[in-house]
Amino acid sequence: MKISGLLAKDAITVSCELFPPKQFEKLAEVKETVAQTAALSPSFISCTYGATGGTSEYTVEIAKEISSHGIPALAHLTCVSSTKEKVAQVIRELSRNGIENVLALRGDIPPEGRMAFDYAHASDLVEELKSHGDFCIGGACYPEGHPESEDMEKDLYYMRVKYEKGVQFFTSQLFFDNGAFLSFCEHVRAAGIKAPVIAGIMPVSNAASIEKMIRLSNCRVTPELAALLQKYGGTPDIGRAGIEFSVKQINGLIKEGVRHIHIYTMNRPAIAKAIMQSIER
Ligand code: FAD
Repeated sequence: MKISGLLAKDAITVSCELFPPKQFEKLAEVKETVAQTAALSPSFISCTYGATGGTSEYTVEIAKEISSHGIPALAHLTCVSSTKEKVAQVIRELSRNGIENVLALRGDIPPEGRMAFDYAHASDLVEELKSHGDFCIGGACYPEGHPESEDMEKDLYYMRVKYEKGVQFFTSQLFFDNGAFLSFCEHVRAAGIKAPVIAGIMPVSNAASIEKMIRLSNCRVTPELAALLQKYGGTPDIGRAGIEFSVKQINGLIKEGVRHIHIYTMNRPAIAKAIMQSIER
């Protein structure tokens, strides 16, 4: 099923995210995670793609596994370090395996520099996908601005370029400040972007990893999150407190009229379950 169709229905959607294994030996373990996540009946499950294309084989494999559980799969695809040949090969594999939904991404520029120069931006990949068939295409967006962006106006301008080239929905970067997301959605609408924007929620389960993510994503730490990290940072209670924080954040968004939630569950079905059963729909 196409995700654009799901998002058009008058219902709240809650989706989850997984990452593929790096080695074949871990494939069975990730497939078990898929089964446990699918058992929670999320609206769809997405599977990430290595920025350098190294895990592409398993992204398609995991997307196929998600579909086999009757849950729509969203396969991520990055382009900045790929050649046209490599991208075309993955697109063909996606088609062959009946994967209809693709999140078209640029990918982060590797610290050691780019390995290929066929693509500069996600919008180039959107064009490529459109030329290969009838995919439902999603894109990424940044409620607090992309770290490389000069300002929000430029970011919205390029988001609109992606929309005009064929992006049918956007998934947001993680954020902890609901006000920032709600205000961003207003700017998105004012910029004439009519595609749905899915709110990206990252559960806090470990102080060190969340601090790294905050640094990389440039998102604001709310006083409530700062207090949580200070109180529970180095304790075993951080997981429980993080789940409560995410539930409160999601329920707060739903109260404000947000219809679509994507939880960065990242191969942690127990966390996905704890959050999903407390969402007030
Ligand atoms: P783009 O849309 O190309 O934007 C990147 C930057 O370039 C922005 O600052 C934008 O304003 C600017 N820009 C865009 N178009 C132009 C243009 N034509 N001219 C000049 N400037 C332009 N990474 C992975 O490696 N694998 C994943 O699976 C993955 N999944 C993600 C899922 C989500 C929901 C999000 C939010 C991010 C994900 N990422 C993933 C990270 C993502 O690849 C990085 O954030 C990357 O830096 C930007 O990707 P993008 O698709 O937003 O790029």
